[in-house]
Amino acid sequence: MAIEESENGREDMLIDGQKHGNVAAPDEFNVNYLKLYYAKLFPYADMFKWMSYGNDGKHPACDKYYIGRREFSFTLENDIYVRYQSFNNVVQFENSIKEKCPFKIDIGPVYSVDPAKKNAYAQSGDNVFTPVERELIFDIDISDYDDVRYCCSGADVCLECWPLMTIAIKVIDTALRDDFGFKHILWVYSGRRGVHCWVCDGKARRLTNEQRAAIADYFRVYKGNENSSKKVSLTGPALHPFLVRSYSEVLERFFETRLLLSQNIFSTEDRYEKILEMIPDTSATSDLRGKWQTKRGSKEDINVVRWEQLKNTLQSGKYKVKLVFLFDLALSNTLSLENCCISCQF
Ligand SMILES: [Zn+2]
Repeated sequence: MAIEESENGREDMLIDGQKHGNVAAPDEFNVNYLKLYYAKLFPYADMFKWMSYGNDGKHPACDKYYIGRREFSFTLENDIYVRYQSFNNVVQFENSIKEKCPFKIDIGPVYSVDPAKKNAYAQSGDNVFTPVERELIFDIDISDYDDVRYCCSGADVCLECWPLMTIAIKVIDTALRDDFGFKHILWVYSGRRGVHCWVCDGKARRLTNEQRAAIADYFRVYKGNENSSKKVSLTGPALHPFLVRSYSEVLERFFETRLLLSQNIFSTEDRYEKILEMIPDTSATSDLRGKWQTKRGSKEDINVVRWEQLKNTLQSGKYKVKLVFLFDLALSNTLSLENCCISCQF
């Protein structure tokens, strides 16, 4: 996906000199800072050690050709994109980066053979050049939250909406550890408007595309589209334990203490109508609409008042609907993430 994304102009990078939105950033990208970064700060040895996964040539059982089969891609100045770079040792890696000064570095899969010699293998006609390992990678992008945030939109981020990402990280990290048993999970700020999750366990790196898709499906709690007001598909007699846990341990409290107030979710007719549309019980919605259209007399925050009214109305025999509604605001968007499979590289 990293490579795909760079072609699509999306952000999937370890290095990124640009920032957007409300985050303070230098006026212009400065290549001299990038050179300085590569000269003094870039963690070559740590990166190389990580991606070798113990295949460092020091143990009899290790695969000393492992790291040399990993693809790196560089985006150079003027968007020159160079794929199939590979390095047998950290010195080569460091020298190449310092020499080329890439504006962006993408990390691709580990292939069956050295990707730099791909063409030579292709000529042999055996089709031996194929990806064999890739970390399991999830992307969460703040623009996925445009349905539930009013402070910013698109690539913009501020301190009010960034906590949505924190919540996503909590929910997904817990599920990856507790439900799937993964241990080696790395969360990385993408440099612009999102976070990436790299699951690096051996069993994650060797997942088939079908298995990756199944894991992504586990997290996908709605199957709607942009035009559907009823995105949540939490139907059935009981909620999945993953959803119950996410709701009770993270989402309910976050919704009530942060999101409700910071995003003024019920403050205007446009906003509360979006919520009412999600509730299939028309007698409840017309009851609430009636209350909300008349003048407010309370000194309490209007969002809190209306949320309490909504909860009280729905609790009369329709407690589940309240859950569904909550999930839609907090969880469906939280988990609108992409899976990244090996075949995405092509
Ligand atoms: Zn914001």
